[in-house]
Amino acid sequence: MKCHTAIDTVYETEEALPLKTRTALAFHILFCGRCAAQMNRYRQVRALLQTGFFPPAPDFSDHIMERIYAEEGSGEEAFEIPGGIPTRGWVIVGLVVLLSFSTLFFGSDFTRVAMDQGASFLLPLGITIGIAITGYGALFIGSHLKELSERFKL
Ligand SMILES: [Zn+2]
Repeated sequence: MKCHTAIDTVYETEEALPLKTRTALAFHILFCGRCAAQMNRYRQVRALLQTGFFPPAPDFSDHIMERIYAEEGSGEEAFEIPGGIPTRGWVIVGLVVLLSFSTLFFGSDFTRVAMDQGASFLLPLGITIGIAITGYGALFIGSHLKELSERFKL
């Protein structure tokens, strides 16, 4: 019997092993000090666990469920920004963003740069505008989830 085979038998109860394996294991342990030490440690740990050395874990489930029921009503408010931004503020910011994007194309610098650079200038510009609008929309929807879901009955 090789060492790794001997160590593998550690996890099985000795009575469940066939007599041939048990004999081979006993023979191996007789001559292999390392396996004998490991087997000894395992037997000690198993004996320790069987004697109830570790006290049973206290049952917290009732306490935890009590807390969950108590917090159930106030659960959704926890995700809102403290203080919050009024809806009028959001609309004003959105209008300013839209206005700044639309006036961008009328600037004299824009036409000159756009003529010089062509499509290679419009692509990053479009990506920037897209990111800004998407970010604004995501922030608005994310911070007004409750109101929007009530309004649209979601
Ligand atoms: Zn060995």
